[in-house]
Amino acid sequence: MYFVKTSLRSDSASAGVIQRSSSSDKVISGNKLVTDMICPKCGTKNDDGILFCENCDWRMDIPYVPEKEKGEKAKIFAPVTFVLGILAAALVMFQPIASIALGGVGLLLGGYSFNTSRVYDAPSRNMYIAISAIGLLLSMVAFILGFSRF
Ligand SMILES: [Zn+2]
Repeated sequence: MYFVKTSLRSDSASAGVIQRSSSSDKVISGNKLVTDMICPKCGTKNDDGILFCENCDWRMDIPYVPEKEKGEKAKIFAPVTFVLGILAAALVMFQPIASIALGGVGLLLGGYSFNTSRVYDAPSRNMYIAISAIGLLLSMVAFILGFSRF
């Protein structure tokens, strides 16, 4: 989420016609358009036209998703990947098709959960990374072994 507040500051009283080009917010005439850029990361007000926040150097045009919020997903996805990996590996001998399917899902989810675990800002971070990695590895092995059963 990021917020751009636009306010119109009039230099010469209320006289002067404001002309805007249809798409952009450029103002031609005696009036001056002042756009306060609120940093999406730290909330600092920056001057218009600035690309990086003066306070935290965040790029102003990129919406900020808190790392913590991203990391919270690791709590869900890492264990799911782990269980999928174990199930996929366990089914290789009996249900190769199921293990290919579960392994495939585990691979997709595993990549995601591995990434979310890496940005997780908590002491349990390494645990989630390990769980994701094991799930990912098992999914991969099950996926490959599943195919070799045909
Ligand atoms: Zn900032």
